[in-house]
Amino acid sequence: MGWMLIILSIFVVWVASVWKIFFSRSKPTFLNEGSPLLKKNVLLVVAHPDDESMFFSPTINYLTSRGHTVYILCMSTGNSDGMGSIRKDELYRACVAHKVQLDRVKVLDDPDLQDGFGQVWNHGLLANIIEEEVYGHVIDVIVTFDSYGVSGHCNHGDVHYGVRKFLHDSSPGNIEAWELVSINILRKYSGVFDIWMANLDVMRHPRGRRHCLLNEHPRKSFLAMAQHSSQWVWFRKLFVSFSSYTYINTLRKIE
Ligand SMILES: [Zn+2]
Repeated sequence: MGWMLIILSIFVVWVASVWKIFFSRSKPTFLNEGSPLLKKNVLLVVAHPDDESMFFSPTINYLTSRGHTVYILCMSTGNSDGMGSIRKDELYRACVAHKVQLDRVKVLDDPDLQDGFGQVWNHGLLANIIEEEVYGHVIDVIVTFDSYGVSGHCNHGDVHYGVRKFLHDSSPGNIEAWELVSINILRKYSGVFDIWMANLDVMRHPRGRRHCLLNEHPRKSFLAMAQHSSQWVWFRKLFVSFSSYTYINTLRKIE
C-alpha cells in the first residue's frame, strides 16, 4: 500500500511537471521585455557539434519560435575520434531540424582548437573569433556555456572564458551575454521534474538576471539530436531522455 502511494505521488508530480512545462500560460520574458516586437540577432557559441542539441535545445526553440535570428558558432568539428567531417555534417542536419538557417551556422577546424580533454584552447584566440562573428552579423545577444560547461568538459569552459574575454576586451558594450547554468547531477537527470527547482532558482535571484526557458518542442530536440548519428548511441539516448537540459534551460546574465 505504501509503495502504491509513493508511485501514485511520483506520477501526480510528473503530470504536474509536464503540464507546467508544456501547457502553463506563464509567458517567459527573455529578450521580450521592453519592446517584444524587436527581434534580436543571437549568437550561440558552443565547442562541439551536438552541444547545441544536447544542451541548448530549449534555448534554440525559444528563440526561433519568437522570430529571433539564431547564429551558431561551433569552435571545433569534434574530431577527437577522427570523425570531424562526419560530425560537422551532422551539425548542419541538426540545424535543419532546429530551423536554423545553414548560412548562419559556422563550424571551425582550427589546428589550435581541436576537440579533446587535454586540449587547452587559447581564450584570446576564441575572443578574436567571437569578435569577428559579432561584428560580421551585428549580434545583439550571445549565449554560451558557463565556466563549468554542463558536463565539465574543458573545451566548454574555454568557450565560456573566450566569450568573457571578448566582453571584457572588445565588446562595444551594448551586447548582452547569457550563460547556461550548470546544475548538480541529481537535478541534471531529473528530466521534467527539474522544472520546480529551476523555477525556484530563478525566483531566488533578482528579476531579469536569470531566465528559465522551457522547451515547447521536445520532439524537435530529439529529431535534432538523432541527426548526430555518430553520437546517437544508447547512453546518449538515455541522457537526452532523462536530462533536464532537454526540457529546461536556465540562463544567467554574464555581468
Ligand atoms: Zn561538447
